[in-house]
Amino acid sequence: MITIENGYRISIMLTEACNLRCSHCYMSANAKGKTLSKEEIDNMIDNLPINCLRISITGGEPYMCKDKLYYILKKIKQKFAGKMPEVRVETNGMFFYHDDNMVIKEIENLINMGVTTLRLSDDEFHQQGGLDIQKLRNIEKVVKENNLNIVVSTLFQDKAVAFGRAKALNNEKLDKKTCLNRKESLIIPYFYTTINGDVSTCAWKCAPALGNCFKNSWEEIVDNLNSPLQTAIINSDILEVANIVSKGDKKKFEYLKSIIETKGQCMACKEMFKGVYE
Ligand code: SF4
Ligand code: SF4
Repeated sequence: MITIENGYRISIMLTEACNLRCSHCYMSANAKGKTLSKEEIDNMIDNLPINCLRISITGGEPYMCKDKLYYILKKIKQKFAGKMPEVRVETNGMFFYHDDNMVIKEIENLINMGVTTLRLSDDEFHQQGGLDIQKLRNIEKVVKENNLNIVVSTLFQDKAVAFGRAKALNNEKLDKKTCLNRKESLIIPYFYTTINGDVSTCAWKCAPALGNCFKNSWEEIVDNLNSPLQTAIINSDILEVANIVSKGDKKKFEYLKSIIETKGQCMACKEMFKGVYE
């Protein structure tokens, strides 16, 4: 029986819109994506469990809707007053990386709104998508030089999994990806929301949703982790997922098993489920 005793880690997609065009983008983001409304933000944050350990605000690019970014951060600060979780903003930094003063001003804004971690991406995919890598790297330098009280965590990727725009990448840039769930996911699952409120434990939003955080309570959502399919997903046991999906059809099972072995677990999921961004 899976229960959440240790606390929640939740990644909230604030917007699907982005100002970059990274070739590895699993969601094929562009400038026109949907953004959560203020009512949806209210609904989402009001209903969050109180024992959240980490809340990440992601996109797309959250600064594409700066007013909503500030709004959701203030809502989180109000709700968790006195017992703040780690609050991360995952951004490409382009809206404030132009000079040191802009960086300082914006980071101070974020700190005042309760942000503890800035998550940046420093890789060729983002550079080719339109990011100025030197300006991006300068953010961390400015934070250090000015003793700003925020953690800068930088993600580097040189390969991607073939979802969304990444389907068009050359083979050497594609990863035979294993599930992003880990054994510790059973103890503290990472939940990812889509722009429509669906909640999944799959970072690519490919596996079936556990529920919808606009319509279901988090208790109901977590309860659904106990279905054999969702337990196998959170346990990163994709062979068992294939077994469940095959429903005794040996030929189908062997086919899915061969995809796991040759193309990786994520591509097997892609074959089994129609992902949100496929
Ligand atoms: S910055 Fe992120 S969301 Fe935007 S295009 Fe690149 S990978 Fe996609
Ligand atoms: S696509 Fe499947 S294997 Fe990949 S992260 Fe999602 S659940 Fe795990």
